Amino acid sequence: MIGYRSTRDPTKTSVRFEEALLQGLAPDGGLYLPERIPQLSPALWRSASSLAEVGIGVLGAWLEGELSPEELEPIVREALNFPAPLVPLGEGLYVLELFHGPTLSFKDFGARTMARLMGHFLRKRGEQRIILAATSGDTGSAVADGFAGQENIQVVLLYPRGLVSEVQERQLIVQRPGVRCFAVEGTFDDCQRLVKEAFVDPRLAHLPLSSANSINIGRLLPQALYYLWAARQLGGETLNFCVPSGNLGNLTGGVLAALMGQPVRRFIAAHNANRFFPDFLAGRREAFQFHPTLATLSNAMDVGAPSNFERLYHLLDPKCLRAWVWGTAVDDGTTLARMRTTYEQHGYLACPHTAVGLEAALRYREATGDPTPIVALSTAHPSKFPDAVGRALGMEPPRHPALEALKTQPTQVEPLEPHLEALRARLLG
Ligand SMILES: *Cc1c(COP(=O)(O)O)cnc(C)c1O
Repeated sequence: MIGYRSTRDPTKTSVRFEEALLQGLAPDGGLYLPERIPQLSPALWRSASSLAEVGIGVLGAWLEGELSPEELEPIVREALNFPAPLVPLGEGLYVLELFHGPTLSFKDFGARTMARLMGHFLRKRGEQRIILAATSGDTGSAVADGFAGQENIQVVLLYPRGLVSEVQERQLIVQRPGVRCFAVEGTFDDCQRLVKEAFVDPRLAHLPLSSANSINIGRLLPQALYYLWAARQLGGETLNFCVPSGNLGNLTGGVLAALMGQPVRRFIAAHNANRFFPDFLAGRREAFQFHPTLATLSNAMDVGAPSNFERLYHLLDPKCLRAWVWGTAVDDGTTLARMRTTYEQHGYLACPHTAVGLEAALRYREATGDPTPIVALSTAHPSKFPDAVGRALGMEPPRHPALEALKTQPTQVEPLEPHLEALRARLLG
């Protein structure tokens, strides 16, 4: 059995996966990290027959002793019931499309798997939970969709009012059983701070709060799976991965895949104007020297203080991190230009987050001459961002049936001041 320890605990007390999953954030405010990382059989990235098979192999190794293969298999098959295809753009550049789940972003991988794992452990314990989560756009809808209808779990979501796209907002606030949405007068960092404060508030200590942010280990592990699946689709060779990043959860999933044994030459961390991490990698900023969040076109990546940085920093020391991960920051004008040239040259319509990644991938090639194939993760479907597509290309993205269906459904949302008192009153009310 693999134990999990808080990044901030010097006493090295460990808990089971089940505890780490149900707690989210450790009691001392740190993030859970595994005590050891299981080494995987190369068959998983060389010959697995499906993403679900990769999932069963990887999560089986992580959850050994806590979940039997018979319990795990239906969870994984039900959670990962959509494809993750690889689209070649030529010259060793591939797009890994992670937006074929129900809410059209890569967050469906983590949220759907985590919801089912939590549901399983809670049913066994006969317990309830309230998931409290901050979202910069896509997390909320993925979590709401993933958890809705689980009888022993309620969901409370906070998002920054006016800082998510209209489509993202509609996906978020569509009425779902057991889900409450709050539009916070503030930024994503305010939302994240409120969540952190609520978790340590003694007056809320009697509530069974849990998190579903990318800080939760249960969301992180499933985000390692598609790295292996991409390699499998390319014959198991050594790859570079380019990851459009905000809170650094997706990238941490990739680093875990590599630490489990998958051959990865380099990770490329693609950021927008929220450039703490690329600046840190280049030695222009100290660790944890964060900055306030800036609003950009790729708004799901608008994170000034990425919470998974603390985890990455404990997984790999700074020297190793800087050697393995190459970072760059892409501004909005360049993002739009990259959306345009990608469409013109390849007929491929990328969402702004994916375009940040494609720009970063090409910069990396130019800067290093490294000929290793690059898999650029595509994190959302372009139809979620009609404004950006319109600005880049002067046209509307094709309509997506899942988004069209939302237009006629009832919504639920309440405004919230960015103070703990206000949130506490709602949670207790
Ligand atoms: C959440 C998100 C990201 C950033 O992922 P992190 O794990 O927070 O780094 C990138 N693109 C899209 C579309 C997202 O929803």
